[in-house]
Amino acid sequence: MHRIDYYQSSVAAQFRALHLRENGIMAGVIDGSVSAVTGLYGGLRSQGQYELVISTKREKERSLLLLEEFELNPPHIEEGWEDDVQPDLALLDQRHVPQCPSCKTSLCTSRPFGPCIACSSPYNMAELVFEKFGPDALACCYESAEPLANYTDDEICEIPLDCPSCTYPLDGLSMNGACPECGAVFSRRELFINILG
Ligand SMILES: [Zn+2]
Ligand SMILES: [Zn+2]
Repeated sequence: MHRIDYYQSSVAAQFRALHLRENGIMAGVIDGSVSAVTGLYGGLRSQGQYELVISTKREKERSLLLLEEFELNPPHIEEGWEDDVQPDLALLDQRHVPQCPSCKTSLCTSRPFGPCIACSSPYNMAELVFEKFGPDALACCYESAEPLANYTDDEICEIPLDCPSCTYPLDGLSMNGACPECGAVFSRRELFINILG
């Protein structure tokens, strides 16, 4: 896994990861503030805590070119783009689960739209979260809309990955094994899940 850049906003990082994936590069976003994998803490945080990573350093040059192209010609993001896909609120961080705006009863993510069980007031949970915590709080509810987490072993074997210790390419090797170059034990699924953040 190779870090390409840092971003202040998880949405900004996700859009770039999506752009790379659309161009055939397996990319993902890691929240550096919670990542034990990359050990990014403190000082570097000012650059943005969201790390854009790719599966193999072999794609680094092409990724940088694609990102240059992305910055020059960013996709036009429609006002209200959030409405196109329904967020999966079950994935919402517990800290961001809102209360009923009328009676302050804690809402349940299995009921994204009102009426409130306690006071029958109408509500739209995604809107409440957006207003109170901003788009980043909802970002985690959209990522799952992509079937990345459901990749089969065969599909994961198709993704170019590097040895986590010495970055030797693991092409053609099985799902789990030891790096032929340095002997480090690897699990492709684990490496892949790390990329997804
Ligand atoms: Zn209520
Ligand atoms: Zn190795």
